[in-house]
Amino acid sequence: MSKPYPYFISLDEAVGICHQNTITPTIEVIPITSALNRVVADDVVAKVDDPGFDNSSMDGFAVIYSDTTEPPVNLTIVGSSNAGTGQLNTIKSGEAVRIMTGGPLPTGADSIIPIELCDVDNNVVTLNESSKPNYVRKQGENFAKQQTLFSTGEVMTPEKIALCAAAGVANLTVFSKLKIAIISTGDELKNLDESLDFGQIYESNSYGIEALVEVYGHEPIRYPSVVDDIDILRRNLEHAAKNYDCIITSGGVSMGDRDFVRIIMEQEGEIKFWRIKMRPGSPPLFGSWQGTPIFGLPGNPVSSHVVFRALVGKWLSSCTKSVDSVSKYTNAILDQDVKTQQDFTTFRRVELFDHQGELYARLKGHQGSGNIAGIAMSDGLTKILPNQNGKKGETCRIILL
Ligand code: AMP
Ligand code: MG
Repeated sequence: MSKPYPYFISLDEAVGICHQNTITPTIEVIPITSALNRVVADDVVAKVDDPGFDNSSMDGFAVIYSDTTEPPVNLTIVGSSNAGTGQLNTIKSGEAVRIMTGGPLPTGADSIIPIELCDVDNNVVTLNESSKPNYVRKQGENFAKQQTLFSTGEVMTPEKIALCAAAGVANLTVFSKLKIAIISTGDELKNLDESLDFGQIYESNSYGIEALVEVYGHEPIRYPSVVDDIDILRRNLEHAAKNYDCIITSGGVSMGDRDFVRIIMEQEGEIKFWRIKMRPGSPPLFGSWQGTPIFGLPGNPVSSHVVFRALVGKWLSSCTKSVDSVSKYTNAILDQDVKTQQDFTTFRRVELFDHQGELYARLKGHQGSGNIAGIAMSDGLTKILPNQNGKKGETCRIILL
């Protein structure tokens, strides 16, 4: 039966449709102390050179290289230069300045001799080896004042936050967090503070999705789970669409007659695509509910997680003009045959190990899409492409977890 929207498409096509249906967050200025995982929305420009002045990368003596070419050499110590020294020493031929890591290089000096290579007797230092013009950190060699450090779309990591501070940048213009409603559906779902009757389970997907939303630098709003009832679901979707930027549901999106997310979207929403050729996680749906983008993720816990990483994360990244730099990849050689399906993208849970300098992947835990323990203990997910066969010895992409 043909559908009025793309149906059962490749992951690439699905991601492409997501890229065409982004929303653009507003912009705000925040201190770098709050910038972890946030996405920069303007050029970030260095306010200073780094280093700001030539300085030493070792504890030792600042010397003139040409004085040191025929060791041993005796030089007169004429001063000292510590990190934070407010003054600049000067040396002439035959002189040395005691210098600490970060201390400004005296005018006239061009080399540092590490302390380990020297003997000191009062104000005379004997150099036992010739120097090389080493251990001098040159002004501006890391970055220059006015240099653009980052552009729009850069995701802030601890290292990049430190770089901002080194560059004198205290505040950043970033995209505001998208507010993302997370709604789990299912009669069987119970909260963590409830006891379980027969047939019931703890609702877990929303917690993983909430954490993923935070990893992508946005703001999750986790709803209490919703029973399988179309009117209650509608009320929740209406509330979420009115108050938040995007909706992520879990469960109820497959082909069954109690899969109300799919049913209500078919009847009252706008579907941009439904079902993807991926394993696990083939049921997802993407569209909009009263103008608000909505992702219907599968209920199976591994599937919901994998679909977030493979799809929702890509959409969130393109909303902030980023490549998906949150996903980290490596390549590994398959240590065993992995079950794949023609034309599908296959995400299996693997552990990684080194063998004779090569990185290998082997399946980790039970591969059922209901087994959250397997993915929680894995190092990564294979991303075996539709044109690969998943045979032992094949090199494939791994999404690191
Ligand atoms: P569904 O997609 O609604 O057919 O659910 C598929 C499977 O995932 C069923 O075994 C559900 O019990 C389970 N499931 C659905 N939603 C959740 C959830 N929020 N947390 C944990 N398991 C879930
Ligand atoms: Mg269900």
